[in-house]
Amino acid sequence: MAVCARLCGVGQAGGCRRRAPVEEEEEEEVRAEEAPRSLLQLPPEILVEIFSCLPGTQLPLLALVCRKFRQILSTDTIWRRRCRTEYGVHENLRKMEVTGVSCREVYVKLLHQYRDILGLWQPDLGPYGGLLNVVVDGLFIIGWMYLPPHDPHVDEPMRLKPVFRIHLMEKKTATVECMYGPKGPHNGQIQMAKKNEFCTNCLQTDYHRMSGGRQEEFRTWLRDDLGRTLDDIFHEHMQELILMKFIYICQYDNCLTYRRIYHPPSRPDDLVKPGFFKGTYGSHGLEIVMLSFHGMTAKATKITGDPNVPAGQPTLEVDLTRPMRLPSIEQLRNFSELSRLVLDIRDLISREQRLAGGVEDAGSSSRAEPAQAPSPVASVEESAANGPDASENGEQQPQDLQAFVLPEEVMARNGEYPRSCRVCFYGTGLIAGHGFSSPERTPGLFILFDDNRFGFIWLELKSFSLYSRMKDKFQNSQPPSPEAFDEMLRAMQLWTT
Ligand SMILES: [Zn+2]
Repeated sequence: MAVCARLCGVGQAGGCRRRAPVEEEEEEEVRAEEAPRSLLQLPPEILVEIFSCLPGTQLPLLALVCRKFRQILSTDTIWRRRCRTEYGVHENLRKMEVTGVSCREVYVKLLHQYRDILGLWQPDLGPYGGLLNVVVDGLFIIGWMYLPPHDPHVDEPMRLKPVFRIHLMEKKTATVECMYGPKGPHNGQIQMAKKNEFCTNCLQTDYHRMSGGRQEEFRTWLRDDLGRTLDDIFHEHMQELILMKFIYICQYDNCLTYRRIYHPPSRPDDLVKPGFFKGTYGSHGLEIVMLSFHGMTAKATKITGDPNVPAGQPTLEVDLTRPMRLPSIEQLRNFSELSRLVLDIRDLISREQRLAGGVEDAGSSSRAEPAQAPSPVASVEESAANGPDASENGEQQPQDLQAFVLPEEVMARNGEYPRSCRVCFYGTGLIAGHGFSSPERTPGLFILFDDNRFGFIWLELKSFSLYSRMKDKFQNSQPPSPEAFDEMLRAMQLWTT
């Protein structure tokens, strides 16, 4: 906040843009002597150009140098450019000035003031989680909640819902508005609780209420958030789950805490680009997962979750040293055949671990040895190398595709899954009882279909999850370092347990 205090001390907006004659500088503070003579002699328009290229947070220090600098720093051109360069504001900022708000005020009181809430966040909605991107949108800062498409249409785009906005339209201080409910924006508050955490408060929850009472609120939530109606939920178990979620979420009507999350960092040798995906989770509907790579392990972590396996938990772990050649389509249709292949690998892994444990306490290092991987890895690496380039250039590279079909006994939310895949690996999926009781990693088959889709066959559940990439661009979502990302993953697991 020290920087803020300094920022707010910068001289008044709309100051003199004329060239200041040298004689006028006689009254300048003693500090003027310290300013480089050559800089002071430059015409103001050149100084405006120079100052426009400096980070906004450095400008208040310059204002301390001398009166001439302070006057020049009140030129709105400088601040307009800082708004654009640092925060991507492309709105017509000149129009803004007509309303009596200067670009310096937009920079200082809106963008700089709320810079710490820009980026990706997960709401603390217990097991349910969520995904929020706070972005600079025109002259607003908006918190967009990402809702998965309607179950089971996993390939459809995400739906966005604004949950709060901040602007500087009428007042000289930023206004926070809650966007929940049918009655439009109303008063809210935002507090930075600690680093990487903030809270929103609604000050007028009566705006969330509907004339039809809770019944109408439930129906509206069902329609808007889940894209369902009461009539199209046939299964009693699903009805129960949905009602349970609604009741849980209602507790957070007037305040909600958000924790920072990051987009997973990517490396050139990743199997596919890491990122966020929507996946089918049976009666829990569509959930958001984050795919990330850690050496020879791929992890899918839940961003939204359910009372069985909550948000923050690693739903899938894929062993990239264990590629699997699929049998013929006829054999693949036979569940016990696929099951045998997967369980053989599981048994092999546990034998190897026992052996490694017997010889020395090698931990997991023996598993992370890429050289041990059998030949199909060569085709994986090739595919991975071709993959992202191919999609970026819009060219189709020939891939070594395997025919794929789901075994007859395996349940899928819909029959629309790809009939060929690039590569398969042994993996484990996390299952648990209600309330995350007795969590257990169970064996399964990870299937990479293409750059944007993967699947997982849960052997024990005899079910299939299909995942499809979220193609949304998230602002301010990169982790400061790969270590910061790993630390976040560890912290996420603890949030819900
Ligand atoms: Zn509200």
